[in-house]
Amino acid sequence: MSVKSQAAVIVGQGRVEVREIDMPRPKRGEVLVRQKAVALCTLEQRFFTGVFPRYPGCWGHEVAGIVEEIGPDTYTPLKVGDYVARGGGSACSECYECAMGRDSFCPAEKERLQNQQNTGRPDGISGIFGMSEYASVDPHNLVKMSERIPFEEAALAEPIACAVTSANKLDIELGQTVVVIGAGAMGLANVLIARARGAFVVVSDLDANRRAHALRAGAHAVLDPTTGDVAGQLEKISGGRGADVVIAAIGVESANDDALRLLAQNGKMMLFASAHPAVPISIDPNMVHRSGIWITGSTSKNRKALYQASLLISRGVIDVKPMIQKVMPLDQAQQAFEEAIKPETYRIVVTM
Ligand SMILES: [Zn+2]
Ligand SMILES: [Zn+2]
Repeated sequence: MSVKSQAAVIVGQGRVEVREIDMPRPKRGEVLVRQKAVALCTLEQRFFTGVFPRYPGCWGHEVAGIVEEIGPDTYTPLKVGDYVARGGGSACSECYECAMGRDSFCPAEKERLQNQQNTGRPDGISGIFGMSEYASVDPHNLVKMSERIPFEEAALAEPIACAVTSANKLDIELGQTVVVIGAGAMGLANVLIARARGAFVVVSDLDANRRAHALRAGAHAVLDPTTGDVAGQLEKISGGRGADVVIAAIGVESANDDALRLLAQNGKMMLFASAHPAVPISIDPNMVHRSGIWITGSTSKNRKALYQASLLISRGVIDVKPMIQKVMPLDQAQQAFEEAIKPETYRIVVTM
């Protein structure tokens, strides 16, 4: 027994088709979600542009919708009709990493990636089917959202959870100076979370429009790398001190160079974005030895952070609207992808 579902399927490089596909009803341990909105993140864009040439595929991991049906003998605190956000992931909750609250490192996650490639569907479509009206998913992927939050905003619980995972690891404290380098959608997610943690939030971006937008989104101040000496600019607005935390939300060499220049003693540098190409960072070990700086990274999110993201958005503690460029209907999925891959866009959200 299956459900007919309209879905955006990437059929080849740069080509998306909206098709009616069959989606299975929920098995034991699954929940059927009527998905209403999906945001196009980098992963989806890479399938579209051919960086990951796996066709046909139906992706989408930043999703919001409504619980439609609960599988047989399935325990979940969710009820039919609950508004939910979906965050990808299917950690086992049994292993060492899960027990330590780092479920994004769970080995079951890697296995899941394999399964997504070999779904065994007769139509040959691989993926996690976030860009489909219906999908049966493990309820560990879901968090309850307020019915007052529009689906296009609720869909951003997943990227917010990635910023929360990073902020929890950095242990950002009240009054600290946090610099976010790169004010794209994920840079803004970090701005929202650093601000919610009570930091003095400074954004550095080459683009004047993006700097202005970051200020509207809640940054307290901005740095302009095009006029040189970002460290000097920061010192002028932070009482002569460097940054307690620098988040490199863009994976380019200049961002890493700036991050090291901006750090105060004992400051923490977060490599939040992946880098292509990955240019090695050269560091004087004596500088690290004497200054006590930390260099760390974060990718994806854990269950705790996804839950926290749902609370922050649902209760209006943060407002994710600045992360959204445009909301488009499913039948414009092709145009939505074309918009999403433009470097200057924030999130494009498709509604279903
Ligand atoms: Zn994402
Ligand atoms: Zn695990």
